[in-house]
Amino acid sequence: ATPTSIMAGSGRSAELGVLFKGGEYLETTQSVDTIVLDKTGTVTNGAPSLTDLKVSADWSGEESSLLRWIASAERGSEHPLAEAIVQGLRERGVAPSEPDSFEAVPGFGVRATVEGRELLVGTRRLMDSRDVSVPEEALREMGRLEEQGKTAMLVAADGRYAALVAVADTIKESSRQAVERLQRLGLQVIMMTGDNERTARAIARAAGIQHVLAEVLPEGKAAEVKKLQEAGRKVAMVGDGINDAPALATADIGMAVGTGADVALETADVTLMRGDLNGIADAIGLSRKTMRNIR
Ligand code: ADP
Ligand code: MG
Repeated sequence: ATPTSIMAGSGRSAELGVLFKGGEYLETTQSVDTIVLDKTGTVTNGAPSLTDLKVSADWSGEESSLLRWIASAERGSEHPLAEAIVQGLRERGVAPSEPDSFEAVPGFGVRATVEGRELLVGTRRLMDSRDVSVPEEALREMGRLEEQGKTAMLVAADGRYAALVAVADTIKESSRQAVERLQRLGLQVIMMTGDNERTARAIARAAGIQHVLAEVLPEGKAAEVKKLQEAGRKVAMVGDGINDAPALATADIGMAVGTGADVALETADVTLMRGDLNGIADAIGLSRKTMRNIR
């Protein structure tokens, strides 16, 4: 590629809010055939809010104490789900206390000691790993919430199932149209998330995405990208989170949503300044056009 044409491409790209960190990325982007989209904060707005809260009928203590413990346990987590839970409980008049200990279990949830109780908040697998038995009815309710695209999380106190909480995120207004544009360009669009299969499918359906990789652990995201590459795909990974950084680095092209975490922005080859997914198709269009002009 000649420097002048690359520079011309870069000028147009700035207008579109697409920042290539170097001319070589403008070259590589045109050869991409697969787009892997992170779910939370990329396809969705990434600002979930608490929608459901169901304390178990078997819970014998004070409900207000349980809610305070949940808020206290989640307070130490920087996960958007945790922020949604804490915020939602505050709005319901709950004042969290300082946990005695706190541990994030990436991809699964949190474990904390609060006012002498052991609290677990997170996935079914988190409960299984700590031998918490969850009643059938709670699992059915969890499934119903997930069908609605909500992320449902289980709560246990001192090893016993205590409550179900759910949060809902909204799909970015632009996501559906942006996905359609990518599909029209002949690209395969895949959504990847640590969230469960049912929630992921409901969100993907609403965004017009047919292919879903769900329940991918944070450290597994890069491996999924690698697998696609080994199958001969040229992959662009699009993400916003700390979790996404290794996958962004592994992909042929890493694209970070401009509103994302610093690590994601630093690792990516391309920044989508406008924060919506239309930037992906813009980047590819631009890259194809620039390279055509050069040849
Ligand atoms: P994502 O890819 O959507 O950011 P993560 O890999 O971070 O998802 O998390 C996967 C799942 O682990 C979540 O859907 C949730 O069920 C559970 N989880 C993660 N963090 C928390 C938390 N702070 N509190 C409760 N559950 C959590
Ligand atoms: Mg994300």
